[in-house]
Amino acid sequence: MVAKDTPFEGLAIGGQRVAGSDGRTAPTYNPATGEVIAQVAQANAADVDQAVKTAHARFTEGRWKQIRTRERGQILQRIANLIRERVEFLAQIESRDGGKPISAARGEIGAVANTFEYYAGAVNKVHGQTIPVNANGTALTFREPLGVCALIVPWNFPLVIAGWKIAPALAMGNTVVVKPASATPLSALALADLVLEAGLPEGVLNVITGSGSVAGSALVTHPLVRKISFTGSTEIGVGVMKQAAEGIKRVSLELGGKSANIVFGDANLDVCIESSIFAVYDNAGQDCCSRSRILVERPVYDEFVERFTARTKTLKVGDPTDESTEMGPLITPQHLESVANYIRIGDSEGAVRLCGGEKPTAESLSNGNYLTPAVYVDVSSGMRIMQEEVFGPVVGIMPFDTEAEAVKFANDSPYGLSGSLWTRDIGRALRVARSVETGMMSVNSSSSVHIEAPFGGMKQSGIGREQGMAALDHYSEYKSVFIAAD
Ligand code: NAP
Repeated sequence: MVAKDTPFEGLAIGGQRVAGSDGRTAPTYNPATGEVIAQVAQANAADVDQAVKTAHARFTEGRWKQIRTRERGQILQRIANLIRERVEFLAQIESRDGGKPISAARGEIGAVANTFEYYAGAVNKVHGQTIPVNANGTALTFREPLGVCALIVPWNFPLVIAGWKIAPALAMGNTVVVKPASATPLSALALADLVLEAGLPEGVLNVITGSGSVAGSALVTHPLVRKISFTGSTEIGVGVMKQAAEGIKRVSLELGGKSANIVFGDANLDVCIESSIFAVYDNAGQDCCSRSRILVERPVYDEFVERFTARTKTLKVGDPTDESTEMGPLITPQHLESVANYIRIGDSEGAVRLCGGEKPTAESLSNGNYLTPAVYVDVSSGMRIMQEEVFGPVVGIMPFDTEAEAVKFANDSPYGLSGSLWTRDIGRALRVARSVETGMMSVNSSSSVHIEAPFGGMKQSGIGREQGMAALDHYSEYKSVFIAAD
């Protein structure tokens, strides 16, 4: 057992911090400085077994699912309230662990509170039906929780995405084991403490830190896990889905993206350009919804490219603790190298780089994983930088001539997560929004995330939806009960 006032030590199992059974730890780093922030326990299969068995025991004892709905909602609301009270504490963790500009990190923590608040209100609004069956009696449906849910989280929006999974899972009466990404494990551990303070029974939420290949894999394959909710790369998602098949586990996947941003000639370019900058460089481009393929109608193409590139060059890249920073570092040196490699690929494919794609020259940034934002033109739809998820501050801009061509380019992708289109023509907006194969489309906006609306992808961007009432479907099952009248 380790002391509870050391917030990042140990695994969070059964309401306690417990050291990993073989004592292994690994450092987590500040991407802006390269400094070690904390040593984090590395769970092995035995630790995962302990976490799942604890969650399973809490589920079968009914200590959570049988709590009356109003009380369950009140506990979720208290979690939301405590997150709001601790915005600064949690934002500092997220900023230091993930390299996020502090102003953005505060916004993210506010969104996590909103998520818990939304599902606090949803608890007693999910119900079954009475069904007029062809028999002398009545069929009823109940929405039953599933059991232990394994919630696997990536590093780009650690607490936001954890919240998208934890809150609806708990709202439906499940118990959970959360596995944060190795690069950003700290905020999930902080949340594990906070939920106890809010009155969540011990062991309903457990957090295991450790590698995907050991801890993540043990979680996915554990026989007592009934549901896996995975957010991460398409490559790992394929493996998770295969492993889930063995136990007929319910699985939902939120995977990669390569979203299009379609700009028609009648768009309000002032609003569109500023928003399109945010749409691709937010979180240093490490955003599954990043609109990294910009398609511009030819009459406004030159103007768009000139103004977009000029604004890109003014983006303030630097220290995440500086309130005015607009873009921080990439998550790890390995990921920086992966994005830098895409710059080499783009250059060698013959695309023309108008700016960026370099290490900033400031001495103060030399230890961080920084890269200046890059704009490519003279790209074609088949180029690797237009097809593959770079997951960094890299964008390609290409012209189109007709609405049909814009839709064709937008759909020329294995992914289908998000996207934007800019026009003042409502008919065209509706036609294009319906024609692009994507789970989410924003008209005259770059926003994909509204906690009240379903979020998720088509094609290789995933299966299932998070957020909104739709998420509750993934954490519950219908049970039909027939009652004979005689
Ligand atoms: P990743 O490498 O696929 O990892 C995601 C999570 O899975 C991490 O917690 C990772 O642990 C774990 N993991 C790795 N191997 C595993 C295995 N064999 N079994 C079980 N779990 C395993 O993805 P990432 O690099 O963290 O995140 C970036 C990706 O996430 C991008 O492709 C992005 O598009 C996608 N993403 C999608 C959405 C969406 O909603 N569609 C949202 C955000 C991000 P370790 O960290 O320990 O390896």
